[in-house]
Amino acid sequence: MTELQHTPIGDLPAIYETLQSTFRKGISRPLAWRRHQLHQLARMAQENKDKFVAAIYADFRKPEMEIQIGEVGPIVERSIKSAELLEEWAKPEAVDVKAAWQQSWGSTLYKTPKGVVLIIAPWNYPMILSLQPLIGAIAAGCTAVVKPSELSPHYSQTLAELLPKYLDTSAFRVVNGGVEETTALLEMKWDHIFYTGNGRVARIIAAAAAKHLTPLTLELGGKCPVVLDANTDLRIAAKRIFWGKCTNAGQICVCPDYVLVPRSVQDAFVEALSEVYKEFYPEGALNSESLSRIVNQMHYDRLQDLLARTKGEIVLGGKSDGHRGIEPTVFKNVQEDDSLLEGEIFGPFLPLVPVDSLEEAIDFINARPHPLVLYAFTEDPKFKQALIDQTRSGNIIFNDTFQQLAVNELPFSGMGESGYGYQIMNYSFDGFIHLRSSVHVPLEAEPFFAGRYPPYTAENVNL
Ligand code: NAD
Repeated sequence: MTELQHTPIGDLPAIYETLQSTFRKGISRPLAWRRHQLHQLARMAQENKDKFVAAIYADFRKPEMEIQIGEVGPIVERSIKSAELLEEWAKPEAVDVKAAWQQSWGSTLYKTPKGVVLIIAPWNYPMILSLQPLIGAIAAGCTAVVKPSELSPHYSQTLAELLPKYLDTSAFRVVNGGVEETTALLEMKWDHIFYTGNGRVARIIAAAAAKHLTPLTLELGGKCPVVLDANTDLRIAAKRIFWGKCTNAGQICVCPDYVLVPRSVQDAFVEALSEVYKEFYPEGALNSESLSRIVNQMHYDRLQDLLARTKGEIVLGGKSDGHRGIEPTVFKNVQEDDSLLEGEIFGPFLPLVPVDSLEEAIDFINARPHPLVLYAFTEDPKFKQALIDQTRSGNIIFNDTFQQLAVNELPFSGMGESGYGYQIMNYSFDGFIHLRSSVHVPLEAEPFFAGRYPPYTAENVNL
């Protein structure tokens, strides 16, 4: 493991003061400056893609293909597109006022940058989750500290070395470290905090933010259920769900966590999953370079503990290699009180929970916290509508996994326990601006206001 150079805690006040001063001087405001920083961010990702791929691979053997598609590619594309669209996003909006007597007031919304912001990112998609919020902050005209995760030390170290070579260091800084450094950062007063990670730490962040009334975006996780319609194409469903489970070895917030499978097709679905397994990993998953490792020993042991305690029947996989490799593993007949249904699995285990009706599946989902994503595989409009109407979740996706994240025009957000606040493109921008309402009341309107001033007369009250 690489030695992550922690930012000395004694340096934090000076970093904070620099960013404050840059913001106060208005340096981060001009659109041309923001566009340049966005292009520089894209350049950093593009010119150093091999370094980023090597770093993230070193952290947990994440395959290059997944890094290019899920991290480097979207950062380059979204930085450039955000620069292109910035003018449209940032321009003041003239508001269409309905009342005739207010129409001369020039009602306007100004997109004011919130100020100096803090971005705290996790290890599992270390690049996109630290830099996608930064794209929003730059576009909005904020200055920012980015605090990547200490659990992806190669990436975090690489970012700390490269970012200052491309971005204006008076406006954007990387602070590296763990709980101690983050705690010190949280004592400072930020104008917005964007946190991605687990719900336990989110509560620490929210409590710290509350002391300063700092607004928050919380991008959290949880268990994302999959509901299967017995009449769906099981082969395609198996391929798309299993791909969702194997990507990043299941260490994704939007990973399909468990499947509510009609009891009548459970065995046929297992059969379809077995075929997909052979296609994905003909040489066995543990021998494959297409499967990430578990990020660290603590998470590996946590998953081994779930495995030891489950009463589900293993029907596929089940092996581990002692070196943080765990085979994608499918369990059938998993019961409600099983270890695999306790918390977010965040690993390559796929429990199948048999149900006898759509209503039972809906009740199962509604008895638990609102998921980040609800997945369903169905071609039946009534089945689909019942899920839309009778459940709640951050996102609802039909017939595939992850693809909501690929659509630049869709916001991404949790709900309830899976978080709040939106991101991606203009939604990331929106999170870092304040909509500053404004009217400019004409002096000529004065006669119209005559009745509002004291002394209040009976005549005025009856206006
Ligand atoms: P992590 O352990 O890397 O922690 C995230 C950040 O919190 C790190 O920067 C870390 O330094 C900081 N942190 C940890 N403990 C802290 C403390 N006590 N005080 C202050 N800061 C602290 O990552 P993680 O939380 O294990 O990430 C995985 C979780 O994130 C999963 O639950 C996953 O579902 C969720 N997630 C959500 C999204 C999303 O967009 N909704 C994306 C990715 C991951």
